[in-house]
Amino acid sequence: MQGRPPTIRSPLFRKILVGASLLVLAMGGLTDLLMSRYTQQSEESAVQRSLHAAAEVLSRELESLPPAALPEWVRDTDRRLAARVTVVAAGGAVLAESRREPESMENHAHRPEIESALRSGLGVSKRHSTSVNMDFLYLAVPARLSSGAPAILRLAAPLETIESSVRANRRRILRTTLLLACAVLVGAYLFTRSLTRRIHRIQAAAEALAAGRFEDGPALPDSGRDELGALAASLHRMAGNLLELVDLLRAESARRDAILSSMREGVLAVDQSLRITFCNGAFLQAVAARQAPDPGTPLEQVSPDNALLEPLWQVLEQGETVRAKISFPATPGRSYELYAKPLELNRQKGALAILHDVTEIERLERVRRDFVANVSHELRTPLTAIRGYAETLLDGAIDDAEHNRKFLEVIRSNAIRLTNIASDLLVLSELEQHRPAQEPAEAVPVQPVIETAIRTVESAARIRQVSLQCQPADFAVRALRFRLEQALVNLVDNAVKFSPPGSEVRISCSLAGDGMVEIHVADQGIGIPEQDLPRIFERFYRVDKARSREAGGTGLGLSIVKHIAELFGGSVRVKSRVNEGSTFTLRFPAA
Ligand code: ADP
Repeated sequence: MQGRPPTIRSPLFRKILVGASLLVLAMGGLTDLLMSRYTQQSEESAVQRSLHAAAEVLSRELESLPPAALPEWVRDTDRRLAARVTVVAAGGAVLAESRREPESMENHAHRPEIESALRSGLGVSKRHSTSVNMDFLYLAVPARLSSGAPAILRLAAPLETIESSVRANRRRILRTTLLLACAVLVGAYLFTRSLTRRIHRIQAAAEALAAGRFEDGPALPDSGRDELGALAASLHRMAGNLLELVDLLRAESARRDAILSSMREGVLAVDQSLRITFCNGAFLQAVAARQAPDPGTPLEQVSPDNALLEPLWQVLEQGETVRAKISFPATPGRSYELYAKPLELNRQKGALAILHDVTEIERLERVRRDFVANVSHELRTPLTAIRGYAETLLDGAIDDAEHNRKFLEVIRSNAIRLTNIASDLLVLSELEQHRPAQEPAEAVPVQPVIETAIRTVESAARIRQVSLQCQPADFAVRALRFRLEQALVNLVDNAVKFSPPGSEVRISCSLAGDGMVEIHVADQGIGIPEQDLPRIFERFYRVDKARSREAGGTGLGLSIVKHIAELFGGSVRVKSRVNEGSTFTLRFPAA
């Protein structure tokens, strides 16, 4: 904000003060002019009136005056009236004069007042007297001398008296004007100072609003009851409204940012020159950008390939929505569905792009397709066998006492296989309905579970002449008992299935440093080739299909084990060497 100017330097303050001064001066000048004129006129007419009255009386005195007394009479009358007295003969010759010798005076026939008195009975003139070198107001009336000869009696009052009275009057006016000017200037100064201070306060509040400091605004800058007070109150209300509006916009913008940044879809807005106006974190992740670009950065800098540039140009040029499947060289292996449409913001054209990551959807779709193909394939073999042997029996083999029983046993073993596949698939689909690490869990002591697993597999182990060894373990894990049993039975069953007669399967338990309990199932069996190790947990994956089938395997067992482990925040891993044996390790969080 600009600093508040001192009052005296305020332009408004100076304007009002100069204006008031000029007004007072103009008023004083005008009053002086008018009053001087008026005083002059009224003084002159008063003098004129008194001269006229005196002239009337003196003209009568003159009629009875002996000619010899005339000089004395004019001087005496001059003293009495304080006015110059002149008696002029009708022809213009000066007969007597109170202030000069008449002989030295020129003919007065053409003096305007004389001419006028002769013509109309009264002559008045105001002018400079060359005779006595003064300004006079002359008044002349016709008169008669004692001899009966016509003459003119002229009285003259010096204008000096009138002018000094005008001057005195002007001095009074000047004094009054000066006093008035001082009072007006002091009043104007006080008024203007208060006015400019109030205006500055309002100005400061308005500037705070203009600079976006709405919090400074609501303090009412003026409480006067005049227009300025009303202006300040409006400003105060406006600041309140703006503050509310700004709060609303801030909240709205924070909400928008929160929504956009928490969106899994990438959002990008560009202007008509393909410069970024907005983008969210998901978009930056999709194009593997390290940091958020400043608004106005060309999109080319952030995503230089054509994957986005081309469809967005198309949107801007054709003004139509574009949908496309795209992928970025910067994030190989990920694919996105792009939805781009024209965007018009503040009358500026642009485009908005939404990127939907479909990598996982595509993967799941692929997994689903593979799974259906695998299931069909797995079901076809036992079904074909069942159908084939059933048809053979129907075609007459049923009466073949030597073979019919064998055929029926094949049918039964394939039916058992189908049942096994169906029940394993059911278990898998049940496990998949739960979210990993979110299954309700309880503290499950490991030893009883190991014992149950051993009991379940015992008879099969005896048939295969495989001995089962177990080291006592005093641990408990967070899981569900029947799921843990399911996993362990699968591992021990596999160990027995893939072990040669006379070998040993050991089950042991230990506590890992990271708070996990590890259950190891180690066999001395055929082992798993290294290249197959990463895939044995996939559904239906088997190293040796024929052998697995022969052993009654479905190829789903390890997949079930992996699912169960992950369901409780655990994992399963394997170490194996061909012809030496395998060790599977189940890891569960300790309880
Ligand atoms: P299966 O029903 O065939 O046992 P699994 O999913 O349990 O299916 O196992 C997948 C494959 O992993 C098996 O077919 C086998 O080839 C291999 N495998 C699993 N456990 C062992 C083991 N202990 N020793 C050797 N190979 C094993």
